[in-house]
Amino acid sequence: MIHKIISPVPFPEGTVNSYLIKDDALSIVDVGTKTPEALEAIKKGIKDAGYQMEDIEQVILTHHHPDHVGWIDAFPNAKVLGHIYVDAWLRRDPVFINSHYDFYLDRLKEEGVPEEYYFWAKKMTRSIEMLGERTLTGVIHDGDEIPGHKGLIAIETLGHAQSHFVFWNEEKKAMIGGDLLIANISSNPLIEPPLNPKAKRAKSLLQYNASLKKLLTLPIDKIYSGHGSEITNVQELVHERLERQHIRAMKVLKLLEERPKNIFQINVEIFPIPYKSQLGLTLSQTIGQIDYLLDQDLITEVKDENGVYWYAKK
Ligand SMILES: [Zn+2]
Repeated sequence: MIHKIISPVPFPEGTVNSYLIKDDALSIVDVGTKTPEALEAIKKGIKDAGYQMEDIEQVILTHHHPDHVGWIDAFPNAKVLGHIYVDAWLRRDPVFINSHYDFYLDRLKEEGVPEEYYFWAKKMTRSIEMLGERTLTGVIHDGDEIPGHKGLIAIETLGHAQSHFVFWNEEKKAMIGGDLLIANISSNPLIEPPLNPKAKRAKSLLQYNASLKKLLTLPIDKIYSGHGSEITNVQELVHERLERQHIRAMKVLKLLEERPKNIFQINVEIFPIPYKSQLGLTLSQTIGQIDYLLDQDLITEVKDENGVYWYAKK
């Protein structure tokens, strides 16, 4: 049995989906945002399916974003399962959490962002306020079968988040997909701090494309998505998303024809209006396209004496 529960989100996405699944165990995948309205919606959804909050045996998390992990505290008898990166968040690991501000500031510097925008490092640092108080009781690894749900396999699909899993049932040809693929909006491969503060930043867009390509290898009939409606045209949608991203990258490549530019300069040219109010999101986008062009061997990267990276067309 799979039962969809929609709860409100105080962000542009509008709503988020949780899925109640019943096999040998009764579990819920993702638990909404930490607002009273979301809790009410989740409680009602569980009641409509014929259960109480106390009946839930496992909370399974697709990723650590606040609209998916908000109400882990609301299930007194449930184990909580998720990625090791979710664990660091929920434990509020001090080394990890305290590294975030410096991580974002270092990125702004190497992207050539002018000092007047350095306050964005604080804005980009995700708050722990929207997280539940509990921690994980078990860590999920790539390829694990979810306890109590025979045939439901976790597939690590990083990119949108550094903690992202989808859950795939080959027999039913069905997947619980988190935010890997969303019907009406393209999922943003955000730049997020690494688990080990000394590690390099992940190339989120490349990870994301690799995760999308994993979907092409599976005979999926239906994806139960983290937001919006179920997806049945998986192959078509994946090709469309990859194609659209390639076109965006080609636009960036054109901007590098006359002279080398840094990420901030490119960002201002691509997002002349939104870059000021949405610097974090737009930079994430631009970095992604640059990572892609580097990976395709179409541009070069040079670091100057101030630590700023410059990109030129090959
Ligand atoms: Zn998310």
